[in-house]
Amino acid sequence: MSEYGLIINGKKVATTESFGVINPATEEIVGQCPIASRGQLDTAVDAAAQAFKTWSKVSDAERAAACGKIAAAINAHADELATLLTQEQGKPLGGSKFELGGAGAWAGYTGSLSLPDKVLQDDEKSRIVQTRKPIGVVGSITPWNFPLMIAIWHVVPAIRTGNTAVLKPSPSTPLSTLRMVEIINEVLPPGVLNCVTGTDDLGQWMTEHPGISKIIFTGSIQTGKKVMSSSAASLKRLTLELGGNDAGIVLDDVDPATVAPGIIHGAFMNNGQVCAALKRLYVPESIYEALCEQLVAAAKGGTMGNGLDEGTTQGPLANKMQYDKVCSLLKDAKANGGRVLCGGEIPEGPGYFVPFTIIADATSGMRVVDEEQFGPLMPVIKYTDLDDAIAQANGLEVGLGGSVWSSDPDRASAVAARLESGTAWVNQHGPISPNVPFGGVKCSGIGVEFGEEGLAEYTTIQVLNIAKSAA
Ligand code: NAD
Repeated sequence: MSEYGLIINGKKVATTESFGVINPATEEIVGQCPIASRGQLDTAVDAAAQAFKTWSKVSDAERAAACGKIAAAINAHADELATLLTQEQGKPLGGSKFELGGAGAWAGYTGSLSLPDKVLQDDEKSRIVQTRKPIGVVGSITPWNFPLMIAIWHVVPAIRTGNTAVLKPSPSTPLSTLRMVEIINEVLPPGVLNCVTGTDDLGQWMTEHPGISKIIFTGSIQTGKKVMSSSAASLKRLTLELGGNDAGIVLDDVDPATVAPGIIHGAFMNNGQVCAALKRLYVPESIYEALCEQLVAAAKGGTMGNGLDEGTTQGPLANKMQYDKVCSLLKDAKANGGRVLCGGEIPEGPGYFVPFTIIADATSGMRVVDEEQFGPLMPVIKYTDLDDAIAQANGLEVGLGGSVWSSDPDRASAVAARLESGTAWVNQHGPISPNVPFGGVKCSGIGVEFGEEGLAEYTTIQVLNIAKSAA
């Protein structure tokens, strides 16, 4: 079993306490996660603050090159990291390799982005230039669904723009992040990227820490509200990427067999543990049964098992808490008139396995419709009036993504524009890319990631206003 340590100032640091990280496929311990003390968090923040003094001054070209080095380091260790990720997160090895591929690609692309100075005015009176400066020490708090890719989404733009970072992964999946940060530290100056692990308390200490100037947080709405509240004392800059309950609206002109595979992919990718997964499907009465039949056909045929076993296409849910939540939503749906079309039976343990489950006759008011299930359950809701379906789709406090499915992309786009969501997809659900801003509206978040707009969130604006004459 490997020995894991915090990564502070480029070195592995031991802790006095640790806890066992559970493999969700076997319920056995993968390794011991170090528990950082408050003093060790202070040391990590101090190391980042020291490193900021020089990193914020290095040339833009050097920081861009660092992103390329990070990408190369991740790519070189992708197999090792993917195996560890599968062991602690549960996803099939192919899914872990996909995540590592995404992490490397995002790191590399972020290196190519830049935020050049903007001349706002240049006339006989004055020259006014808008510049962007790094903020300081960035605290990154990540969830467990895509722990490595999300960590890269957080810290690489921070580093690209001259900040330094302290990263805290979820207690459910800390080991692969510790190892990835150790690897990245081989190509960065000490202190630029630090990693601390522990329980949820550590996240709260970070949000309260006066030495951290910005928090980038990805996680649940409930925790996001706590982050915002405790960051207020030091008025930290915040980017919050929070939960969603994305609706998909099918229009009456679709061919059920054509759209079903895309809908299933959008709902069940990463076992449904995707912030912007399709979590509620609205289907017109005229094609309801025909589409349900095709959805079942598209959902079947996979192999559920340990993600390290060859041939596994669906792993377990990532942790006991999530498993219990999904099982409780399934039980509630069954008890309240939900018609299970496939899946729906929880196998005997060990492991937190829930099969792909499609629930017909779902309605607003059922927990599986109103709450973010974050698992492989898809409720299918019948509608007769499109305006009413749109109103239901927009009727929750969330607004991360949404999709519309139709054989007429123009008609679908007009409906998509009426969705209250940060992203509205047509005839697909979920694709994201490093050049396209991504974020939520309403309670799904504040700010965006990716693209120039995402990069700008790691900077503050300074205006240089130069009078042309001293008089
Ligand atoms: P979570 O909110 O339970 O935990 C997220 C992180 O916050 C963890 O690292 C946790 O240790 C930490 N944390 C817990 N309490 C804290 C506190 N009081 N202060 C500071 N940090 C604290 O979320 P999760 O269960 O790990 O992740 C699943 C959620 O994340 C889902 O709701 C999902 O939709 C959301 N998510 C959103 C996006 C997005 O981009 N919008 C992406 C992925 C996941």
